[in-house]
Amino acid sequence: YAAKRGGLNAAWYSDAQEASRLSHLSLLSDLRLAVKTSQLQMWLQPKFHLSSGLPYGFEALVRWQHPQRGFISPAEFVPFAERTGYIDMITQWMLEAALTTLAGWKEIHPDLSIAVNVSTHDLRDPGFPERVKSLLEQYAIKPQLLKLEITESGIMEDPGAAIALLHRLHETGIALAIDDFGTGYSSLSYLQRLPVTELKIDRSFVIDIDQHTATQSLVKTIIELGHSLGLSVIAEGIETQAERDTLLSLGCDNMQGYFASRPP
Ligand code: C2E
Ligand code: MG
Ligand code: MG
Ligand code: MG
Repeated sequence: YAAKRGGLNAAWYSDAQEASRLSHLSLLSDLRLAVKTSQLQMWLQPKFHLSSGLPYGFEALVRWQHPQRGFISPAEFVPFAERTGYIDMITQWMLEAALTTLAGWKEIHPDLSIAVNVSTHDLRDPGFPERVKSLLEQYAIKPQLLKLEITESGIMEDPGAAIALLHRLHETGIALAIDDFGTGYSSLSYLQRLPVTELKIDRSFVIDIDQHTATQSLVKTIIELGHSLGLSVIAEGIETQAERDTLLSLGCDNMQGYFASRPP
């Protein structure tokens, strides 16, 4: 019985694998088409100073409106696009969308920045800094207005290569942020060598922080660490007034989250 069941399971498993392979294959060609036929959208989530409540910039988040499958979350297709290398196209599309928007803001909001998320795949591409630089020139945007967010875990996949590439990006004048900080096991010695200006505390620390004193001490330490390295510290995913108040009291500089603005 066990063997028979095992056999059935195996068959079922390979069918499921095949189905998932096929759906990935079609997703792959869909993704290529999506970039070409403007199924992708850029949603801008504002970042605020915690004390004044004033916005100083935005994070660009990709959205995919698929004609048959409907809305596909980036949590679903970004990891897939990273594995297949198609993330290049998404990064390029998002950079151009962000720069187009910044160009349109020149007269009315000349100081607001836009942060684009960059994947580990981009970090392994030696041509990436040069491409970003020529895009900035093409759109005539001050490099400081474009920020790139790199996850801590992405940096830690190959810290040596990532640090070298981040230095080249930093030389062009672009601002860099460490995303999802606290989840990627970076060592303090690496942290000190990263040419970044902003540290983003991962949302997992922010959830109900007003009710967890142990998390408060931990986050206070992260904030002080960031400040001692000369970085501004932003908390992501703030959903409630109580979370906001707690982070302000812990010395956090900036905030982002549904509490202030919720993406579609
Ligand atoms: P992330 O860079 O850490 O972005 C923050 C995510 O948290 C976004 O999810 C945002 O919509 C969500 N969020 C913001 N405030 C709140 C809140 O108060 N509560 C909750 N529950 N969530 C909040 P999203 O847009 O689904 O993106 C998920 C992840 O996908 C991003 O995490 C980022 O790693 C990746 N991603 C999104 N857009 C891009 C992109 O253009 N390029 C790349 N490479 N990755 C992207
Ligand atoms: Mg981000
Ligand atoms: Mg983040
Ligand atoms: Mg996150």
